[in-house]
Amino acid sequence: MTPLGTSQDGSCSLLGDDGSGGVRLRGCRLRHRIRRSSPTGGGRSKFRVPPRSGPSDAGNLAVLDARRWPELLGTELDYDYAIEPQGRGIPSMHQASARVLGGSTSHNACVAFRAPDTDLQAWELSGARGWGASACRPYFERLTERMMFQHSHSDNPLLVAFLAAAVQAGLKRTSFDLTAQDVEDAVGWTLLSTEGSSRQSSSVAYLHPLSDLPSNLTLRCRTIVTRILFDGERRAIGVKTPHGEIRATKEVILAAGAFESPKLLMLSGVGPAAQLRNHGIDVLVDLPGVGEHLLDHTDTALTWEASQPFERSTMIETAALFRSGRDQEVADILSFCVPSTYAGMNQLPEEGCRTIGAADIPEHSFCLHISPSRPLSTGWVRLRSPNPFDAPMIDPRYFSDLDGHDERTLVAGLRRGREIAGQPALRDWVKREIAPGRDVESDEQLSTFGRLTSVTGHHPCGTCKMGDAGDSMVVVDPELRVRGVDGLRVADAGVFPTMIAVNTNITCMMIGERCAELVRGRDTKP
Ligand SMILES: Cc1cc2nc3c(=O)[nH]c(=O)nc-3n(C[C@H](O)[C@H](O)[C@H](O)COP(=O)(O)OP(=O)(O)OC[C@H]3O[C@@H](n4cnc5c(N)ncnc54)[C@H](O)[C@@H]3O)c2cc1C
Repeated sequence: MTPLGTSQDGSCSLLGDDGSGGVRLRGCRLRHRIRRSSPTGGGRSKFRVPPRSGPSDAGNLAVLDARRWPELLGTELDYDYAIEPQGRGIPSMHQASARVLGGSTSHNACVAFRAPDTDLQAWELSGARGWGASACRPYFERLTERMMFQHSHSDNPLLVAFLAAAVQAGLKRTSFDLTAQDVEDAVGWTLLSTEGSSRQSSSVAYLHPLSDLPSNLTLRCRTIVTRILFDGERRAIGVKTPHGEIRATKEVILAAGAFESPKLLMLSGVGPAAQLRNHGIDVLVDLPGVGEHLLDHTDTALTWEASQPFERSTMIETAALFRSGRDQEVADILSFCVPSTYAGMNQLPEEGCRTIGAADIPEHSFCLHISPSRPLSTGWVRLRSPNPFDAPMIDPRYFSDLDGHDERTLVAGLRRGREIAGQPALRDWVKREIAPGRDVESDEQLSTFGRLTSVTGHHPCGTCKMGDAGDSMVVVDPELRVRGVDGLRVADAGVFPTMIAVNTNITCMMIGERCAELVRGRDTKP
């Protein structure tokens, strides 16, 4: 999604540094209505957001073919943010974030889960009134009017054996879909936002089918927003770009993602006052929660050499949500069995690769990914400088929660993953455990392995948290309106009040659908 400005008559501009200026979207005639601006940049810095953006998603098979998603990591289509050094041996990995029409929906692995009811109830309880499960359901369902979904059902015998092994270990078989909420201790084929191998990004699903852009919508590509403009009454009246100002007569909607939305707010004077002053930015509203409360999943993997060859795939075709221990009330591990070597490996620095024994991984190896699904560690996004072309500073502070919940969950999750692999159904498949290896047995060893090899789960959220005015760290109210100003909403992963136990994309799209109705005044007010 991208920043959007709407006007009184309902017209709007979709701005993005997505690089789709003057392009043909599949079978449509948008060309003349997409305005193109020449790319430009600020001064010099190694943390600069590259001023040139890559090509559009149109016709770009590396983007449109969902199976090729790992190829995009670290390319010119990826912001590829370096995160701050992490403590306790955790690698200083890179955070992917797409710079192509459709944002990260044009890069993601297309695993489609709706937020479990339990998590949406937690949103409501945390102060996001009106965002409980039943209120959100129609917006999840609305996605199916535009997007195609399909179950993976690859029938890969290795994955069939994994599903059976998970059932033998006590999980129930389920069909994950956009209505089923029975996700606790469940395993099944994943639901994918794909049609065949083609991804259903927001661009493919919402823009490509248009034979022409509606008259009230202008797409401005290769256009980086550098600041939100306010009038003397603290009302958002438009945005600044390197190519000039764009005015919005009704409101401005920020959808630049969990890293860039807080950065834009801070560059515009809305954020923690002391931080803004340090950078010489005039404070419009002291909003201490902007950029704080960064949440993310981590992802590591158990890896086995297989006893027999199998078809490799980059797609994530099976998923399991399980309790790491019998005393857990709800599933606290999100897991995927993948018929290939560790997909996160290309984001691991050398030390993590050594730990995992990357150099020695035989061709026929498969993985079980382990992610603590409701982590409690929180990090932050801050300004590196007042230069809008500098990447923000990002510190997820993985495994830093005071009580050690995330680390304990990781260790217990790795053990439970081994239990699943030890079931009779996988006996003909597991030749030997490669990573971490059977000699890694104690909690301490498993924790070290898990921390050293965990990469981002690609689900950053929470940096513009939605909630109740009584919470000083809240950034947007339940109608997604930024506190302390008028005419400005945020509609992206940043507004998540708490982490959800599954992949984040479908929930972000639900927020986008709901925001559209809030702007039009057609939502039952939360
Ligand atoms: C590699 C990867 C794999 C993933 N796999 C999955 C998956 O399988 N399933 C799942 O559910 N989720 C997955 N996700 C997560 C999911 O894609 C994100 O949660 C979701 O796309 C976030 O949506 P968003 O609107 O918050 O931000 P984004 O999708 O990141 O959109 C932000 C947009 O704003 C643009 N932008 C940023 N700054 C500016 C600016 N200053 N001016 C103009 N435009 C700007 C960006 O270019 C981008 O287009 C994955 C993510 C990644 C990166």
